[in-house]
Order: sequence, then structure tokens, then C-alpha cells
Amino acid sequence: MLGKYEDLIERASELGIKAYFLKAEDIPVENRIALKCAYGCRGYGKRLSCPPYVMSVDEFRKVIGEYKSALLLVDEHDTSGIQDVLEAWSGLRKDSFHKMYELEQEAFREGFTFAHLLRPGSCNECEACNLEKCVKPEMRRFAPEAVGINIQKAMEEAGLLLEFCRPEKTSCIGILLLE
Ligand code: SF4
Repeated sequence: MLGKYEDLIERASELGIKAYFLKAEDIPVENRIALKCAYGCRGYGKRLSCPPYVMSVDEFRKVIGEYKSALLLVDEHDTSGIQDVLEAWSGLRKDSFHKMYELEQEAFREGFTFAHLLRPGSCNECEACNLEKCVKPEMRRFAPEAVGINIQKAMEEAGLLLEFCRPEKTSCIGILLLE
């Protein structure tokens, strides 16, 4: 059943990432996720990869409607020896993003012309985001939650459980849209 996705899943594994096939129509997009972004996230409005600088939930619904397939990407970090996981989060997500970005490029080369990564967390390719004009537009990607994807439910679709408040294990989650 996985057919043409197998090579990508294998490549993800080589990069240390677990990849799970999802039908794009099974990825839930919800308005209430935007609520959590705008009211309660300390990163809101601080990066050009975050709301309000990214496409709206409604716009994204139309976009994802044009895709059939996706890979849910999970990069698990052992953070048991880390004192302050929040402080480490910047480096963890950057590391995961670079691996997932490589997978997106690989997907493009394999013929998935519209391969597009939704990255783990907000973009931190620059120390501080200038909030006016992206200086690395080829690297700019937004996170699934920035456009309303309910990651918890998406993981359930893949038979996984998203665990909160476990400082010894930190998972960076991305979604690679494929067409
Ligand atoms: S690459 Fe730099 S300027 Fe562009 S969104 Fe990321 S942090 Fe902001």
C-alpha cells in the first residue's frame, strides 16, 4: 500500500525520523487551534513563520484539500539529561527541522513536485526574526499548528499518542504534504 512512499519512509529512518503515512483528508484542521496560538503562546507574532504572518486557517483548508497524501514525521529526543527543556527547545527543533527539510528536498527530487514541509515549531533560522522581510525565504516554513492542524488528533490517526509534560522525552513533530 505504501508503494512510492516507501523510499521516503526509509530515508526518514536513515535521518533518525519515524515517518507515518496519512491521507491528507484525515489531517484535522480546526479553528480552535488558532485560538491557542493567539492567546497563550509566548511565541505569537514573533516570527514570520507564525500567525498572524502566515496564511489563515480557512486558506490552509483549501490548500490541504488539494493534497491526497502526507507523512507525519516524529523526531524523538532523549531529554532526560537536560535541566531546562524549554531552553533546549530552540536547538532541538532546529536540528529536527534541518533533517525534515532534507526529506522535503528528497521528496521533490523523487517526483513529489508539491512536497511541502510543515515544520516542528516556529522558524528559528535567525537569532531574531526581523518581522518584515524573510532573509531566508527558501527555508521559511510554518508549523502544523500555525494553520490549525490538530497534531494530537493527527497522531491518533497514525496510531500514536502525543504525550505532554514528559521532560525526559521531547518529540518534534512535522508533517510533509505530498503530491
Ligand atoms: S528565516 Fe529568519 S527572517 Fe525568515 S522567518 Fe525564519 S527567523 Fe524569520
